[in-house]
Amino acid sequence: MKRKNPTEPPAKDQKTLASWRLLFESEPYKQDLDTRPGEGEYVFGFEIEWDDLEDFGDLQLELSENFEATLEIGNQVMKEQYANRKMSTRPVIRVINLPNNRSYEVSDLRMRDRSRFLAFDAIVTSTSPVIGWLKTSAYQCNDCGSKWSVNERLARPREKVKYCRTCLDVILEDMSKKKPKTYHKDPDDVSLLVEDCYYEDIQYLDIISPLMLESGMTDPSERIQVVVFDEYVGQFSKGDCLTLNAVVAVDPLINRDFIRDTRRMVFLKTHSIEEGFSNHEEIEHELQSESSFSE
Ligand SMILES: [Zn+2]
Repeated sequence: MKRKNPTEPPAKDQKTLASWRLLFESEPYKQDLDTRPGEGEYVFGFEIEWDDLEDFGDLQLELSENFEATLEIGNQVMKEQYANRKMSTRPVIRVINLPNNRSYEVSDLRMRDRSRFLAFDAIVTSTSPVIGWLKTSAYQCNDCGSKWSVNERLARPREKVKYCRTCLDVILEDMSKKKPKTYHKDPDDVSLLVEDCYYEDIQYLDIISPLMLESGMTDPSERIQVVVFDEYVGQFSKGDCLTLNAVVAVDPLINRDFIRDTRRMVFLKTHSIEEGFSNHEEIEHELQSESSFSE
């Protein structure tokens, strides 16, 4: 039961890390970074062309198969790039210009599309207030003093933290000895460090596709909910025509008694947003007017 050294990521992650590093050290990205984009801002979306990923290891494939984990490694490398340039901005990778084979129609979304990274032409029909959520919670062991953090999931209760891993390892090591101690205190005296918890702003948008608008599918029950993060929060309003590059997710908070069809359980976790549609002509202005959306 020996724990792997937590500072030593698995070999696959190291390969991904190296690929991202090569990308940021290549032109034109190195040159972009040298212009210090987003300086003075709290968070900055750094755009990367999907096609450019092709030249760096298996980044395209890995983003397709394991989007969130691959992106997280990339964001770590970006942070390092900003830190090297002595910038305090928190950069986030925004992959844009997805290929045509990733374009998807909003009204075709189903449960089976879960976790796919796709591009959607979308019209914003309503926006929620800005909401803060607990993204990372921080803990400290009252026995040994070690600190650690836990990544929380959106719209889920806080993960239950039951014990201190460091103290547990000490106990396990002792138990494997020839003469283990006869008594071990349970390693469960841990506290939440409120000051070190990390909150993030999000916003929900309701969207429909241009195709849905054309065919009169504007009923509120037909709309798909989209969650936007960081620099996109508060940026969009009703009637905006966008290309959303997003991961398909399933709503964990749905009240099962009220499900009318499977689409209501699906929502989109936005990764990046481009202005304008990618696969439809822009909609006539009159169709975007207030009257086409009933609240
Ligand atoms: Zn401990």
